[in-house]
Amino acid sequence: MEAENNMSKLLANILKAKGLTEEHITALEESGVHSKDDFSMIGDYQTLMDVTGIDQEVSQKVMSWALGATTYAPAAPNPNTNNGNGSGSSAPIIVESADVVKCVHCGAKQPKDYETGDLCISCGLQAEPVLSCHWCYSSGPGKFCRECGSEFLGASDYEIGLFLKKEGESKNAIVKLVKEMTAQEKEAIWAKIRKSR
Ligand SMILES: [Zn+2]
Ligand SMILES: [Zn+2]
Repeated sequence: MEAENNMSKLLANILKAKGLTEEHITALEESGVHSKDDFSMIGDYQTLMDVTGIDQEVSQKVMSWALGATTYAPAAPNPNTNNGNGSGSSAPIIVESADVVKCVHCGAKQPKDYETGDLCISCGLQAEPVLSCHWCYSSGPGKFCRECGSEFLGASDYEIGLFLKKEGESKNAIVKLVKEMTAQEKEAIWAKIRKSR
């Protein structure tokens, strides 16, 4: 196969990912486009549409990729803006972005880019409570343990978590059990905890 007459598999795959079909790609090849550089010859998305018959949105996507410019991209806020306060820890903590975090001290809503462990924008204290993990005994802010990934129990349920672990419950089961427990069931466990002391 002559490489000259066909675009590379990589380029074809990229174009497919942008929404082009085999037919579009063939049309491009026939009109002499074989590399990313050839798109700068085409110059604009309108011309690309004329050449391939793709729709405007796909054409804009392809051209903004090929030209590496932001010309056609809508002005989107850059989510990768790094504010440079990285803690150096890259623990894969998943924070549900839908949840608005409110400061436990002053109740102020934290900004969208809030990350577990950040200080409150309003009062400067750690916005989320620091809790201890009933499973691995490390402690930290947020909903989940950074060490073992377990969800934290509230401070009042911590001892119940310890007790259930001693009873042989699994890491995942404990939080679920505690959440489903009634006040009486918790009280019954407290009675056992007190007895065992
Ligand atoms: Zn606060
Ligand atoms: Zn833990």
